Amino acid sequence: MERNIVNILGYGVDTFSFEDAINYIIDRHGQVVTINPEMIECANKDNNFKTIINNAEMVVPDGIGVQVGLKILGASVKRIPGIDLGKALLFRAEHLNKSVAFVGAKSEVVENAVKNIKSELPNLNIVYQHDGYFVDSSDIINSLKEKGPDFVFVALGSPKQEFFISELKSVLPNSVMIGLGGSFDVWAGMVKRAPKIIQRLGLEWLYRTLSEPSRIKRIFPTLPVFVLKVLKERIIGR
Ligand code: UDP
Repeated sequence: MERNIVNILGYGVDTFSFEDAINYIIDRHGQVVTINPEMIECANKDNNFKTIINNAEMVVPDGIGVQVGLKILGASVKRIPGIDLGKALLFRAEHLNKSVAFVGAKSEVVENAVKNIKSELPNLNIVYQHDGYFVDSSDIINSLKEKGPDFVFVALGSPKQEFFISELKSVLPNSVMIGLGGSFDVWAGMVKRAPKIIQRLGLEWLYRTLSEPSRIKRIFPTLPVFVLKVLKERIIGR
């Protein structure tokens, strides 16, 4: 299977279906970025972050923002929410008898998330877990090197998680590593996802913003600025 990449504001995004994304990254290993407009706006101000995104082995459109942006530019992609991709990778890891590690979130959150995952996937081989509130990553990186997990699920928020994974890449060249934002909070049962209908409509971001109004400052002015830049790219090019 080959990558078919479409471009938005200088960022390559894969056009895999959900199933193909799983199969591709399991065969290929490496860093998975689940991209959204806030990340693009952040990377526009931080060249190192932009390089990390463009060097990732797979970049999937996490939500409707990038999907709509690409539509404006004439490309059609399927949304692949990180949390769903992460869960599917966990099922696959159990099925393939692969080892997994979790890094991120508050310590009680990662503990509860792992507990719930264990009861859902009793045969999953979990070799390491650590909360996401550390000052120096070197001990965690060393432990991960020693354990050598096949999959590493990282939930530090963006861009922290992408920088952490890019550091891990040379240490774990044969692992699948994915940044999952707030997914551990959901898996721990601390945060509820939007109802399925809202998810299907692509409005989960709106639901999250309304249930956690402090997130508004993430969306404004980032989202309108992103849309304007996409329209500019469409009309006059980059
Ligand atoms: N987090 C962390 N370490 C930090 C900052 C955040 O582990 O230094 C965790 C936080 O507890 C939460 C996740 O990272 O579980 C970020 O969630 P958020 O909803 O902000 O992520 P998003 O999906 O919006 O990027």
